[in-house]
Amino acid sequence: MSSPQLITVLGATGSIGLSTLDVVARHPQRYQVYALSGYSRLAELKTLCLRHCPRYAVVPDERSAQRLQDELRAAGLATEVLAGETGLCAVASAAEVDAVMAAIVGAAGLKPTLAAVQAGKKVLLANKEALVMSGALFMQAVRESGAVLLPIDSEHNAIFQCLPSDYSRGLQVTGVRRILLTASGGPFRETPLAALAAVSPEQACAHPNWSMGRKISVDSASMMNKGLELIEACWLFDARPEQVEVVIHPQSVIHSLVDYVDGSVLAQLGNPDMRTPIAHALAWPERIDSGVAPLDLFAVGRLDFTPPDIQRFPCLRLARQAAEAGGTAPAMLNAANEVAVSAFLERRIRFPEIASIIDEVLNLETVADAATLDCILQADARARCAAEGWLKHHDR
Ligand code: NAD
Ligand code: MG
Repeated sequence: MSSPQLITVLGATGSIGLSTLDVVARHPQRYQVYALSGYSRLAELKTLCLRHCPRYAVVPDERSAQRLQDELRAAGLATEVLAGETGLCAVASAAEVDAVMAAIVGAAGLKPTLAAVQAGKKVLLANKEALVMSGALFMQAVRESGAVLLPIDSEHNAIFQCLPSDYSRGLQVTGVRRILLTASGGPFRETPLAALAAVSPEQACAHPNWSMGRKISVDSASMMNKGLELIEACWLFDARPEQVEVVIHPQSVIHSLVDYVDGSVLAQLGNPDMRTPIAHALAWPERIDSGVAPLDLFAVGRLDFTPPDIQRFPCLRLARQAAEAGGTAPAMLNAANEVAVSAFLERRIRFPEIASIIDEVLNLETVADAATLDCILQADARARCAAEGWLKHHDR
């Protein structure tokens, strides 16, 4: 038996990070944890270090690094604690690392994820915001470094499983007509439109089918998550925005579909549990046990499909607009959304104002070429500034 693969988990304390460690721990002969990162729940990170004995842990700053280092030493662990973005990039690109789970939420994950890609790692991509912001640059880095990019987002993992193995030759030449991206519709799929102004962060985070971090839960409620996923699909599978159709499927059993020119439609099904795409990507092209229960089709009973309601979900329209505009538009969309979602979670704005802020920022800011990381980060900063401006102007 060959030696275990060394895995870095960026964002280990989050929902995806914990699910990843759950799968990894089921296969100690195959996988060993090389590094874990955490940002706010550092007591939890310490517990994870005690359980998985990584060579490195990464925390946001030097002070918390020193504290965790002392605690881990006292517990008899040899783990070395690093700090900040430099630490994240180091454990994402270290020569010994075989695979990197990119599961930091938001733009904060961009540089470490890119570092893993540039180092030619097997990159398990959960951090969709990184790809949305820097798509062209990111995919070029994948091609140049020979990194193996595997999607963790359940929809993209499903699409990857349903596409022909040579899809990188082009969707059209390999007979693909459309990608059908499924969406649950979130907790507000049937809420009366007039009631949306009064919904709370708790209601927005109570997703009917998936248990996830707070930011992606709000994105699912506004369907910005599906908008970001549309952009993500375009980059991952070299699709044009019009080749990706969003389908509301409230049961979240079909994770997405691929429609071929001969009329065949392939779908991937499973229980809504992120350990399935995580295990798929970790072991690809092999298959391993993920701990997920077998799908009980008789318990599911029926599968429903409807088109999305753009009136109800303006974020979907805004994301499609940004996908079509290209350049720095997706980075600006993402940045404005991150600011707006934080403000909503802090109860500074109402739910429908998330879309209003993004709309205004996209109208105010001009789209530039997204050729370099600098251009992208500048667009991100300008959009954040414009969104903050909106918040100041509307402060209650
Ligand atoms: P989460 O909020 O549960 O976890 C986020 C992780 O990122 C935590 O470990 C946190 O410590 C870390 N983090 C937060 N801010 C940071 C910063 N500024 N610098 C460094 N680290 C930081 O989120 P999640 O639900 O696990 O989602 C993680 C990513 O995976 C997101 O991009 C999300 O869109 C994507 N994703 C999640 C799911 C899901 O089911 N949870 C599904 C598909 C895609
Ligand atoms: Mg998804």
